[in-house]
Amino acid sequence: MTDPTTPVAWGIRLSKLWLQAGQSFPVDVKTLALDFTKQKFEDPIGVVVNHGIDGIDGMLSKRKKHKDWCISFDENVAIPGRINFTIAHEFGHYLLHRTLRDDFKCSQAEMMDYDSLESKRIESQANVFASYLLMPRTDFEQQITGQEVTFDLLGNCAERYKTSLTATALKWLEFTHEAAMLVVADSDDFICWTFCSQLAKRLGCYKAPGEMIPPSVVEYLQTNTADRRIPRRVAPGIWHATAETIESVVVSDQYEQKIFLLRFPYASNVVYEEEEEKDAFAVLSEKSKGLNWKK
Ligand SMILES: [Zn+2]
Repeated sequence: MTDPTTPVAWGIRLSKLWLQAGQSFPVDVKTLALDFTKQKFEDPIGVVVNHGIDGIDGMLSKRKKHKDWCISFDENVAIPGRINFTIAHEFGHYLLHRTLRDDFKCSQAEMMDYDSLESKRIESQANVFASYLLMPRTDFEQQITGQEVTFDLLGNCAERYKTSLTATALKWLEFTHEAAMLVVADSDDFICWTFCSQLAKRLGCYKAPGEMIPPSVVEYLQTNTADRRIPRRVAPGIWHATAETIESVVVSDQYEQKIFLLRFPYASNVVYEEEEEKDAFAVLSEKSKGLNWKK
């Protein structure tokens, strides 16, 4: 079997490999990266260690002496699930980009900056790889089937995959047929970035960075600090011109950010045709033999 060439294909293949070796979620990226690359490449990932450098979440560096690569990460990151995603992100750079450069230094701001004009192609590719490796769509769909998607439900998934709430919500938005979006705002209620599902994009839900959170929403949040996470109905004309919105909010103390999960279940009757799956992969069971992973 030839090696994948895209982030999606690599992510799907390695995720399947992990499960076919009898492992369960979350994917232990450290073990997978070390064992898989040792078996397969002459310049494998030799170590995955913490580096404790503030402001740099993860690095991938070539070690010329050892003829291998080192993934290092900041172990002091307070947000659950971030480290696993960071290691997966660096593993993605290794698989997809190591011929381009000898070292990669990545911060969370870049990793999550899906919509920024400055976001680099390779950063986004490493994110895509990490999301497909850690949160396979089929399994994700099984976890949420028939349930209303809330921060609580996404939080359960984040725990299952050992990913951050934000990364998990973004993954859901990538594949959902619902009209929904994530809006992240700073402590002054300016929007930092927005990520829309396909349908939300088509319905014009997008909010540009720099726009303000609607004043009535800000007011509500100031007076209802206890139950912001509980979904509430917001009238048309506030988040969307004509559609009612289901809004819930998580406040991230560390970054003083507000993360809004906005759903537009009554927005329209647009028929949404499912895109064909772009990646189909053969069974990989033979590939998982010989990898000594503990159950
Ligand atoms: Zn990166």
